[in-house]
Amino acid sequence: MWERDALRTRALYGLILDTDHPVSDFAQTVKQQADIVKVIEGYIRLRKTGGVNYTGLCPFHKEKSPSFSVHALRQFYHCFGCQVSGDVFSFVGKIENVTFPEAVRIVAQKCGIPIPKREFSSPEEAAGARMRARLLDLHEAATAWFEEQLRGPEGAVAREYLAGRGLTPEGIKTFRMGYAPDSFNALRDRLKGMADDETLRASGLFSAKEQGDGSLGPIYDRFRKRVTFPIANESGRVIAFTARALESGEKAGAKYINSPETPLYSKSSVLFNLDKARTAIRQTEFALLVEGQMDCISVFLRGIQNVIATSGTAFTEQQVAILKRHTSQVVVNFDPDAAGSNAAEKSIALLTEEGFSIKIVTLEDGLDPDRYIRERGVEAYTKALRGARRQADYLIDRARAAFPGTSSEQKVKQMNFLLPHIRRMPEKLARDQFAADAAQKLNIDSAVLREELRQAALRRRDHVETRAVVLTEVERVLLRALAITDPDDEQARRLAAQALAQNPAWFEHLGTFRLCRHWLAARQRTPWTWWRMKRSVHCWPRHCWPRPNRPSRTRC
Ligand SMILES: [Zn+2]
Repeated sequence: MWERDALRTRALYGLILDTDHPVSDFAQTVKQQADIVKVIEGYIRLRKTGGVNYTGLCPFHKEKSPSFSVHALRQFYHCFGCQVSGDVFSFVGKIENVTFPEAVRIVAQKCGIPIPKREFSSPEEAAGARMRARLLDLHEAATAWFEEQLRGPEGAVAREYLAGRGLTPEGIKTFRMGYAPDSFNALRDRLKGMADDETLRASGLFSAKEQGDGSLGPIYDRFRKRVTFPIANESGRVIAFTARALESGEKAGAKYINSPETPLYSKSSVLFNLDKARTAIRQTEFALLVEGQMDCISVFLRGIQNVIATSGTAFTEQQVAILKRHTSQVVVNFDPDAAGSNAAEKSIALLTEEGFSIKIVTLEDGLDPDRYIRERGVEAYTKALRGARRQADYLIDRARAAFPGTSSEQKVKQMNFLLPHIRRMPEKLARDQFAADAAQKLNIDSAVLREELRQAALRRRDHVETRAVVLTEVERVLLRALAITDPDDEQARRLAAQALAQNPAWFEHLGTFRLCRHWLAARQRTPWTWWRMKRSVHCWPRHCWPRPNRPSRTRC
């Protein structure tokens, strides 16, 4: 969809800039004919407060008493709260989050002003655009027909199913749910007058069996005896369907089937419900991300309207790019099962890379958002949303759960669990903060370990070096012997020092070799060790600490 949007925008630039309709002319025509009050009323409620003045609640900032005003004569708007102002195009551009040419097009459409035919750069491009336009028409017709079937006598079982999921007739209408009857050719017969066979095949609404000679046989309805949920693009046009079986068992097939990839629809670049959620996302300044379409619908219909769904898969890069145009804050509420956690982690990883600020909701008793909000009500759900944990806290908890215990080995594992996540953060400051948080919450009291975590975070490493942290028995004995200060036990220290000095090869592989050597030099201060001490002192402690991907003997 992202590419298609970009294409559309480019196409519109083409239309406006490359043809004989310069931007100012066409935009000017639209502006003269458009009524700003009518256009804005399509988005927010306005009240007439004078001859030519209208006021309402500002859609660009949160407020309780209206400070947003529209001047019908001068055709502009102004908010006394957040000081935004502009003309009809700037309003549409802002609220729809689209470019200027796109805003011109939207206003033209709203006011019924015909958009001049665009010129295509190639016959293929023209054919592609025509195909997409026909596919949109087919999807619109199919949606209306499915809706009709749901209301009809055949739709009784489907209506019962939807009522059982807590859906009211208004909710069903809002999301344009429908019913695909138990027939192989009902939809085909309905749509075949609208398009040729090639277009019908490309729509994804039909299937065909492969014949003996490799060609495809006649088409038949893909969705049968199923409840249909339309999937819309950002402008609210239906581009695909998800269909849920009403029966279970082998004969009924998969519980959910989706439209295949088509010239209109690419699963990885659609965010379910973004068309309805985007105004609320802008107002609340965050998006609530859930996994399933039913979760999304259920939450939306109970008044939490900034909700979107990934349709049961982890977030894709295209979806993140689309969302980024609307907000940089996300509250993630995925299913608490293992698949949910994995999907959540993958999604969080991608969102982190793009610099989103993320919070995570985990609902009590393993409920998904749909069941939670139906069983416990919207207030309880809102409360759960307010209690969403910061990403850092969530991940630290997961690290502790994955590697329980307080030994230094476990702490290193916990740190290594976190570092790949920290590493993804583009902001250095955020990485530093996360590392400090983690050190505190994981009770890492060793200054060395804290510093190691901090450095790994700042330098975007994905693990900390563990050799120096987990001491071998040999190292313990050696360090203890070298540290002796009691004159009575001086003999033990001398033996240890001698062994180290005479047979460095025995010890060189140890993570603490540099530390031992340093102590040895410090205590003996013999000419033999003095130069070594000088070499290591000026770069102790950080530089001498064994670094990952480098053998511990590397000179610094
Ligand atoms: Zn405002």
